[in-house]
Amino acid sequence: MTAPIVVVGAGLTAGKAVEGLREAGHDGPVIVYGDETLPPYERPPLSKSYLAGGSTLADATVHEQSWYDEHGIELRLGSKVQELDVAGNRVVTQSGSQEFSKLLLATGAAPRRLGLADRSDAPVTYLRAVGDSDRIRGALVEGARIAVIGGGWIGLEVAATARQAGAEVTVVESFDLPLLRVLGHEVAKVFAELHREHGVDLRLGAQVTEIERRGKLGAVHLMDGTVLEADLMVVGIGALPNTGLAERAGLPIENGVVVDEHLRTSHPDVYAAGDVASAWHPVLGTRIRVEHWDNAIGQGTLAGRNLAGREEVYDRLPYFYTDQYDFGMEYLGHVGPEGYDEVVLQGDPHGSRQFRAFWLRDDVVLAGMHANDWDAMDPIRSVVGRPADRGRLSGDQPLAG
Ligand code: NAP
Repeated sequence: MTAPIVVVGAGLTAGKAVEGLREAGHDGPVIVYGDETLPPYERPPLSKSYLAGGSTLADATVHEQSWYDEHGIELRLGSKVQELDVAGNRVVTQSGSQEFSKLLLATGAAPRRLGLADRSDAPVTYLRAVGDSDRIRGALVEGARIAVIGGGWIGLEVAATARQAGAEVTVVESFDLPLLRVLGHEVAKVFAELHREHGVDLRLGAQVTEIERRGKLGAVHLMDGTVLEADLMVVGIGALPNTGLAERAGLPIENGVVVDEHLRTSHPDVYAAGDVASAWHPVLGTRIRVEHWDNAIGQGTLAGRNLAGREEVYDRLPYFYTDQYDFGMEYLGHVGPEGYDEVVLQGDPHGSRQFRAFWLRDDVVLAGMHANDWDAMDPIRSVVGRPADRGRLSGDQPLAG
């Protein structure tokens, strides 16, 4: 009998990979290892609707347990894979060794730690798992003081949810605008205005110098001498790929586990997908690692199909979305470390906040987004990656057609 296909990690990528495996006709045994005790669930609601109490864990669950049973997928949860032996085609856990025919690394990413916070005994949390979201939710009562460190996706989504729950929120961000690195100042400004309008105390260009406990509260000291007291501090300063297992197994790492356009590592039986994978993107002509929900779904599904014997290429452009207050946005494309040389805006970014934005370099549209303009994705898709037509991008002529 052939050894099972093993998936390491039990997040959204894994949940979609096993679906892809079965859809592509693989009918052999499949084992999924997860260090969390829950079957795969989606993480976006943890900073949005689940955190707000508007949706449940069941809503976020990728498949119910009965689906795994019906599809012959064995979930080994609460079971951390400690070592990967690629030469011997086996993984090692605390309870023993398991052979595999093929393996998918779907180990995801972990929050980047803030040493000052970890060394203090102040009430501090990160946000990655459902228990973290529960802890934050428990603190979101009218008038509670929440200090968020990091004005990225987690920071801003938690800030919005906390404000809507009636908490007083301060966001401490080291750059001069939130989301500056990913969106650039033209659009990052819109997020700063949005949060200030909703009563968030945004501390930009701020450096945290100390974190301490004061009774039941935590206190964040900033470089300018300000001390912010809070019932809970939420740290969202980025994530790092969980590459330890792959690294110890001798697989190439470059800001993530190196995989080709089929999501295969340097070992023919070992694949990687989702937050942990640094994948060659054939359309962008570069290696990228994407830490967003859509990438977990797309790469997970495709890795599953390729594990089942297909040779499909992952060429989907990065996509992400956010919902904050009554502001929703979707983004498609990739600007990359070389940056952009121009942003074309269409609509009303600083008033109604219904707008479209396009990032250009050398007259090519690298990425596009819309805010509160829900019919815009198809037209945006039609221009990303193409030479820029400024008349169309600025709205003088329709985008599609
Ligand atoms: P993130 O989006 O990378 O944002 C982290 C922010 O914290 C950056 O603005 C960063 O600035 C800032 N920062 C770093 N060190 C700091 C410090 N010591 N003090 C103050 N600010 C500091 O990361 P995240 O918000 O923690 O999210 C974690 C992961 O979850 C990311 O991969 C994200 O994509 C994903 N996520 C996505 C969504 C979505 O797609 N809607 C929602 C939630 C989470 P620098 O740029 O200067 O480092």
